[in-house]
Amino acid sequence: MPTTLKPNNRPERMCIGCMQRDAKQRMLRITVAEGSLTLDETGRMPGRGAYLHQDDRCITGFVRSKSRELRSLRRAISPDERRRLAELIYMRLDRHAALE
Ligand SMILES: [Zn+2]
Repeated sequence: MPTTLKPNNRPERMCIGCMQRDAKQRMLRITVAEGSLTLDETGRMPGRGAYLHQDDRCITGFVRSKSRELRSLRRAISPDERRRLAELIYMRLDRHAALE
């Protein structure tokens, strides 16, 4: 993982699928709303955020992870929640594909 300093005008976050750092604009934001993990469509929802690339490999990596917590959200996560979130993401990606 690169540790070199980057300019502050390009904020980076770690993808919870591939665990690589990248510009946060290039990733989906995930947050907790009313106790459930959800996709932050606007990127402006309050609270902690986790970030994930819109990439099959990253989404699959996230679903298959055996970790029982999401450190970026300081929250436990179950395999069911991982799958539900992936379904949300795929629904959103399909909608985008239909719009393009
Ligand atoms: Zn990724």
